[in-house]
Amino acid sequence: MPSFNYILTVGLEVHVQLTSKSKMFCGCPVTYGSDPNTNVCPVCLGFPGALPVLNRGAIGGTLLTGLMLNCKINPVSKWDRKNYFYPDMPKDYQLSQYDLPLCVGGGVPLYDHAYPKDAQKKIHSPGKVVKLDRIHLEEDVAKSTHHAKTSSIDFNRAGTPLMEIVSEPDLESGDEAVAFLGSLRQILIYGGVSDADMEKGQMRCDVNISLRPREKRELGAKVELKNLNSISAVRRAIHYEESRQASELDRGIAQKQSTRRWDDDRGESTLMRSKEDAHDYRYFPEPDLLPVDTREILAEVSPMVPELPHDKLKRFEEEYQVSTYDASVLSGDPELANYFEQGCKNTRHAKKLANWVINNTLAVLNEQGMAISEFAISPEKLAQLVDLLEDEKITGSQAKEVFLKMAASGRKAEELIAEMSFEPMANDGVVEQLCDRVITENPGPVDEIRGGNGKAIGFLVGQVIKLSQGSANPKSVSGALKRKLGIS
Ligand SMILES: [Zn+2]
Repeated sequence: MPSFNYILTVGLEVHVQLTSKSKMFCGCPVTYGSDPNTNVCPVCLGFPGALPVLNRGAIGGTLLTGLMLNCKINPVSKWDRKNYFYPDMPKDYQLSQYDLPLCVGGGVPLYDHAYPKDAQKKIHSPGKVVKLDRIHLEEDVAKSTHHAKTSSIDFNRAGTPLMEIVSEPDLESGDEAVAFLGSLRQILIYGGVSDADMEKGQMRCDVNISLRPREKRELGAKVELKNLNSISAVRRAIHYEESRQASELDRGIAQKQSTRRWDDDRGESTLMRSKEDAHDYRYFPEPDLLPVDTREILAEVSPMVPELPHDKLKRFEEEYQVSTYDASVLSGDPELANYFEQGCKNTRHAKKLANWVINNTLAVLNEQGMAISEFAISPEKLAQLVDLLEDEKITGSQAKEVFLKMAASGRKAEELIAEMSFEPMANDGVVEQLCDRVITENPGPVDEIRGGNGKAIGFLVGQVIKLSQGSANPKSVSGALKRKLGIS
């Protein structure tokens, strides 16, 4: 159990692979699963004398991210060499940005629905925006694989554009770190700048963790955990470090600035090295690249800032009268949000349509591991099905049957209903007769209802529907029963 004598402070450095077709400083394609060392050239192999050429699109993606996160965009930004020895990088420096990054400041809003499920009921600081220090662009290194006695290296990844988003030490728990990464990912997807899939390595995260005694203002020594590759690992690692550091501090062991490796299988961290200071990298300006004047690219990407997830969520609540939870699910993914809105244009029953999308469409997509773009039922066709149900042309159970056939065939509801020759909906006369019969056969519940227990009517409605073999409409049955029993 972590001691309560300390305050936890967390900062995150998130590396995001941009959705770019080519590498940062050469024309080699960025692809996945190609044969090793096939997408390479003298620049990304680090040959002496090879000259880098800027990828304008990657700068655009970074500026767009900066705009979405309310950063200040530096009018002039430059490139620096970060010098260190690394077997994955033969030129022994990485092209990065030191004192003039593309974006500074800004923040990531923490969305309620991005917190871990078990933490959503007790959010410590609702509506918090985590402050950012900066966003800069750099090149990725090659990928090494270690075998028993040898190592192999693949340069296909070398030179891939990487955007680094650095937060201030402004997070106070593992739960906030989870919300930060989830919210950030959603915003990046909205902007189309990255798929930000941690499982695929498109988003990787370094976590800085420190504890300080409750009465002190100055931050404790920073422990850095490198290269975490899932959101759940980030949460577990923070919990672990909080306990580990607290128990050492309790025993009078001072913490030193250090870098540790997180082993997610064993659920513990081990010391890698005590941290070099930033000046050990001997940053200096890259002589082969001119500084970037960002103003022209900024003007190009400014109109591309999308409606952001939190704005869309609010609008869905107001415009379609759906619950906050439903709005968060529907706005969770921009394509799903478009699907829902396209459907809304074709029905008067937006709230019902939302239920169908969340309960039925998403169930099929999850079951079949499918994207909404591959789903056979177009939003217009789903809207028609909802209208047929709401206009009482079919019953709820019939609608579900039709839905599954539509999902398998992509055909229209009306066509399928005609072919499926459903029993016609029970007409009013039949409903009246069945209600009379159920009232006679169930004196007990009837007495209860007359005695004031209104809820018991649900039982009688169920009996009538059963006798009608699902062809009676619950609303009209309930109305008829109430009328016959003289209650409102
Ligand atoms: Zn190349």
